[in-house]
Amino acid sequence: MSRVYNFSAGPAMLPEEVLKQAASEMTDWRGSGMSVMEMSHRGKEYISIAKKTEAYLREIMEIPDNYKILFLQGGASSQFAMIPMNLLRGRNTADYINTGQWSKKAIAEAKRYCNVNVAATSEASNFTTVPARSEWKLNPDAAYVHYTPNETIGGVEFDSIPDTGNVPLFADMSSTILSRPIDVSKFGLIYAGAQKNIGPAGLTIVIIREDLIDEPLPGTPVMFSYKTHAENESMYNTPPTYAWYIAGLVFEWIKNRGGLDAMARLNKRKADKLYAAIDKSGFYKNPVDKNYRSWMNIPFTLKNSGLDSKFLEEAKAAGLVTLKGHRSVGGMRASIYNAMPEEGVDKLISFMEEFQKKNG
Ligand SMILES: *Cc1c(COP(=O)(O)O)cnc(C)c1O
Repeated sequence: MSRVYNFSAGPAMLPEEVLKQAASEMTDWRGSGMSVMEMSHRGKEYISIAKKTEAYLREIMEIPDNYKILFLQGGASSQFAMIPMNLLRGRNTADYINTGQWSKKAIAEAKRYCNVNVAATSEASNFTTVPARSEWKLNPDAAYVHYTPNETIGGVEFDSIPDTGNVPLFADMSSTILSRPIDVSKFGLIYAGAQKNIGPAGLTIVIIREDLIDEPLPGTPVMFSYKTHAENESMYNTPPTYAWYIAGLVFEWIKNRGGLDAMARLNKRKADKLYAAIDKSGFYKNPVDKNYRSWMNIPFTLKNSGLDSKFLEEAKAAGLVTLKGHRSVGGMRASIYNAMPEEGVDKLISFMEEFQKKNG
């Protein structure tokens, strides 16, 4: 069985080189006589893996020294609660931008802890665009502004980092982190579940400006406090050691391929050609405003939805899998993160052209 091109939104493809390296180190990590999975997280070998992983991430993202990197569990979904639990800093209100399904979930969770001001929403367009910054109604007293730079389900992505003045900007980067260089210093906090563009599920990365770390709301469990994890180098309890190790291999892979500039060039090229094929077809359609189309998640519909299951079956037979769109959107979705080779996108485009010829 050869490997397929897997267009899953997450857990998603990992670089084959990384999987092969992990396989070769599976039973004996570099002469230690044990698997990384079997190591004490407090042992010298594992500490070296953890530190190296952090150093690679700091290097490829150019994360300034006044930011802590936390390696947590609980997924991006836990961050929806951890953010208001930890970062209201004596205030009682926070600004949120609503650009789709993931924004909505973050908003719903924050409402349990504070007043949420939805400062802008693209709901009227059925989340096919990004609200213009000039129309945002930010509250100067807000503890922070939260937004979702890339909406994984709708396939909508911000083309720049919004300016929020003195109010810290927080971003759910689960499906866009590492897809291109970003200026980390513009953010108070960045978080991402690993299973899209970082590594295996089970690891969640939080990058937080140190001065924001404070006592959480009374009653917050110790495990839900950023302070706990920051003060203990993410080793207050047993971290997700194996996922952390694989993430390190992925960061090293990115560095060796030219870093985030190289990723950005490749990702833009992959996305551009897939959108071009969709737009010129007259058979496939992507509803998103051309200025805000995601590089990572590309939803599209067929002219006749009655052909959806045929499309999926034949794609699978051609080695192109997990193209079914999210249940809330329907149609197809091609998620093309860093680890999706350009060849996979080329094969998908050829397949789509053939399918249209036979069924269009
Ligand atoms: C996948 C995803 C989530 C949810 O992540 P979990 O790790 O499953 O909690 C949240 N936000 C965005 C933007 C996502 O893509």
